[in-house]
Amino acid sequence: MRIAVVEGDGIGHEVIPPTRDLLAILRPDFEFFEVEAGYGKWQRTGQAITDDDISALRNADAILFGAITTPPARDYRSVILRIRKELDLYANVRPVKGTGVDLIVVRENTEGLYSGVEKIEQDSACTVRCITRKGSERISRYACGLAARRRTLTIGHKANILKSDVFFRDICFAEAEKAGVPVRECYIDALCLDILLHPSQYDVIVTTNLFGDILSDVAAYLVGGLGLLPSANIGENHSLFEPVHGSAPDIAGRDIANPIAAMRSGSMLLAHLGDHGSAALVDQAIEQTVLKGIMTRDLGGTAGTRVFSRGVREELERLAPGR
Ligand code: ATP
Repeated sequence: MRIAVVEGDGIGHEVIPPTRDLLAILRPDFEFFEVEAGYGKWQRTGQAITDDDISALRNADAILFGAITTPPARDYRSVILRIRKELDLYANVRPVKGTGVDLIVVRENTEGLYSGVEKIEQDSACTVRCITRKGSERISRYACGLAARRRTLTIGHKANILKSDVFFRDICFAEAEKAGVPVRECYIDALCLDILLHPSQYDVIVTTNLFGDILSDVAAYLVGGLGLLPSANIGENHSLFEPVHGSAPDIAGRDIANPIAAMRSGSMLLAHLGDHGSAALVDQAIEQTVLKGIMTRDLGGTAGTRVFSRGVREELERLAPGR
């Protein structure tokens, strides 16, 4: 298996290498290769990601991705949005798991307000929100597939205001009916509050691109913050795994970033490739390390990124001796 590794910028350089180490321990057969992309590359070369980089990512069996800082330039095109589009990674899957919470936000990943149809003029700026039948059908089918194995599907939308969400909601309902999945709907603003008040009532939530981005950051509050949440970007032929958090320039290079979100993304990568045993070992090693009281500052501990990562690696070696 060939695994592309994109550290990106900021804390990507601190949380991705220890994640790759865990995968390398469990899967000596994985062949890792680095792809440089991001703000640093843009500053050095004028390009944040090249066509060759995209081809390299296309040739990987899976991609482990850190985070990228968006440069303050008007003509800059987001690297992760380009990768999601070019590799057609249409489903962004964000599990949020903790005490009394076990939900999955399934966010449409290729269109909506992130379609890239935008224009800035002297006195106005416009971003077009494109929602297509194909995009809505496949994301709702994906969410129904997950909900069928779990409990219920909730559609998050703003159909009382946005015609594009009337379209999206109706397609989601039709797909849920076909799949025989129990379904309900909720306005996205009300949903952002209600998942905080009644998290146990939610299971799989399907929503559009920007709403899903915001909702999963809100849900991070339920389980201890952004440093814990992993995500998967899934398409028909490609897959990319990244922490929900960004490059966090404010804490980059200070050895205080929590690598759990990245490590859990590594666990999702293993599970997606069918290695559920190794995925469970990564999750267990993280849990055991935290139970021993080794935690980064965001969780109330004193361990740095490196100390915490060493703790997880040692736990993993204990749980899977000889691997
Ligand atoms: P970007 O522009 O790349 O999205 P950002 O700083 O706007 O970066 P995030 O990187 O998501 O957005 O970070 C938001 C805040 O959450 C940061 O200020 C940081 O303090 C905190 N944070 C994010 N990730 C982590 C982490 N892994 N460990 C600890 N704190 C984190």
